[in-house]
Amino acid sequence: MTQDRPGYDDTPMIPGSSYRVHDKARPRPRVVAPGAENHLPPSDAVVLFDGADLSGWRGRDGAAQWKVENGYMEVLPGTGGIESKTHFGDCQLHIEWAAPAVVKGESQGRGNSGVFLMGRYEIQVLDCYDNPTYADGTTAAIYGEYPPLVNACRQPGAWQSYDIVWKGPRFDGDTLIRPAAVTVFHNGVLVHLDQPLIGPTGHRNVYAYEPQPETGPLALQDHGDLVRFRNIWYRPLTNYDEGGA
Ligand code: MG
Repeated sequence: MTQDRPGYDDTPMIPGSSYRVHDKARPRPRVVAPGAENHLPPSDAVVLFDGADLSGWRGRDGAAQWKVENGYMEVLPGTGGIESKTHFGDCQLHIEWAAPAVVKGESQGRGNSGVFLMGRYEIQVLDCYDNPTYADGTTAAIYGEYPPLVNACRQPGAWQSYDIVWKGPRFDGDTLIRPAAVTVFHNGVLVHLDQPLIGPTGHRNVYAYEPQPETGPLALQDHGDLVRFRNIWYRPLTNYDEGGA
């Protein structure tokens, strides 16, 4: 049965927020229709997936098992998430994805995957085209923390893009001195602006930061749906100057 108001009312409060994690009462982002273009890599990009093979990726049990065809990879349900062999930190990241053209399931059960920065911080991948779900689980949400500013989803089967500017957390020993922060464009539409993260991603819960290296893999989620990815590249923020001490 379709839930008009998917979500929860028994989860922890999100720190600094008046909403619970995956709060069913949190207002859902308004819908915006994006423009038509995605982006090919610039000359200084590090290409993580060019459509040919998964040699740059590893899976749960070794080699990544996902299907590669026609220039894209596709989740092979049950084989687990995959992650890039390359570890990197602060960056500009581009990734394209497509939810299955054949619509199946609802709410979080429709075209679910995820882009995990440094392997732990999820930008949600979901088919939210005419598919109500809880706000902080919307497409391009910082899952469980912040809904996107708007819902810029294309229809299922269409290629969509995320352009992400990622600044990882910094620690001094065990002490967090700077939370991670992220800017995200979904299909060219701004959905997060330098948004500090509360902590690593969880489901139905809130997690605190734990000390970690300044680099990590890009991980993609197997949530059981036939989501496709292509044209994945990043640029390290080597010219990025935080200013001040
Ligand atoms: Mg997900």
